[in-house]
Amino acid sequence: MSENVLLQRSSKIIDSGEHDPQVDPINPLTNELHELNEQVAVITSFARVVAVKTNAGIVLFDTSTGVATEKVLSELRSWSQDPIHTVFYTHGHLDHVSGSGTVRQHAIDRGEPAPRFVGHQNIARRWARYRRTNQFNLDINSRQNNHLANPNFTIGPNAEARARGVNTFVPEDVVEPDTTFTDVFTENIGGLTFSVRHVLAETDDHSWIHIPELKTVIGADLISWNFPNAGNPQKIQRYPAEWAQALRDIIAVEPELYVPMHGLPITGHQRITTVLGDTAEALETIVDQVVDAMNQGHSLPRIVEQLRLPTELMAKPWLRPRYDDPEFMIRTVWRSYAGWWDGEPVTLKPASRTDVARALAEMVSNGLTLKAAAEKAVADGQLDVATELATYAAAATPEDPEVHRTLAEVYATRAESEPSTMCKGVFVDAAERASAKATELGG
Ligand SMILES: [Zn+2]
Repeated sequence: MSENVLLQRSSKIIDSGEHDPQVDPINPLTNELHELNEQVAVITSFARVVAVKTNAGIVLFDTSTGVATEKVLSELRSWSQDPIHTVFYTHGHLDHVSGSGTVRQHAIDRGEPAPRFVGHQNIARRWARYRRTNQFNLDINSRQNNHLANPNFTIGPNAEARARGVNTFVPEDVVEPDTTFTDVFTENIGGLTFSVRHVLAETDDHSWIHIPELKTVIGADLISWNFPNAGNPQKIQRYPAEWAQALRDIIAVEPELYVPMHGLPITGHQRITTVLGDTAEALETIVDQVVDAMNQGHSLPRIVEQLRLPTELMAKPWLRPRYDDPEFMIRTVWRSYAGWWDGEPVTLKPASRTDVARALAEMVSNGLTLKAAAEKAVADGQLDVATELATYAAAATPEDPEVHRTLAEVYATRAESEPSTMCKGVFVDAAERASAKATELGG
């Protein structure tokens, strides 16, 4: 057990704004218990487990992955022999909950009552979704983390599933919350108030916990000492706007200790304000730019091209994009406010890549222009391929009115051939825009 090393390290990094990861790892995965003060300890597993001593027993936040949990519990027992009174889940991601069966069994083996498990009502719904899409989740997690794969890599739910040698993403012995809540859950346990607030953030089942007597916040994955995991291309919707608001709300309760489930704990209200405020600002600037551009009628690809990422904030040691790519967040924000379509008419019902590739190869071997190739595709009855070629033609020679005229004709023809109102609406609009452009250019 080492004392406050993690707090010293985070203070050094935040106060200097500088960081050498070789000297000061921000996400040590040693499964060691660190006492942060007399009542609060963090165990550096993946994800972290936080323990709080109360007069009624230990209150635990998360349970880590199953492979680490035995070690987590032995570290915990070096710090306190009190029974575990309650386990709070910060959210339902498997690196946080997979050890729950082991924690429950640990209490039973000690002849103590099984602890109560408290979590947001959406946690069970998440696990039901994981079970419904079991193989898909095994696949996407394997893909997301495969550059980390090696025989010694024993962290994360993916390694967890491998270690168990089974093909179930959600462990069979995971403990569903027996006490759930919708927005807030407040309770005094052994002399301390646990004020739990649900927020939409990385997930829809996230909560952060304020313990006012200890001026402490347990911050779930709202801060991970990485650029927020708000853009993840393979995962379900994230909530960057609400995430930023949650960080502002935490700053407002003026905690002196902030304990995240990844990375380093932070001490001192000023430092907490710096890290949480910077993170909120990074999220807000992307959200605001995307929403403004949407209101100006820009398509998603154009927004991705034009948006200015907060590069200065991304250089801070607590916001470096080592996990998620901030550009991906643009798409998350779009998806928060729009349908799946990216706003480019050409992608609404795209031609197959094979058909477009064949048409391009033929175009090159016949020495045709893009415009001529588009017209040939119309004549061949391949309207979707014609749309792609005419779109390229208009992009390549935007000052040529004739290519816009061709594009307008292709869309007008396609609008007539489509049965659905939704499709006709987009294609008619595209035809009108291309036609107006051609007229504007004098065509
Ligand atoms: Zn996590």
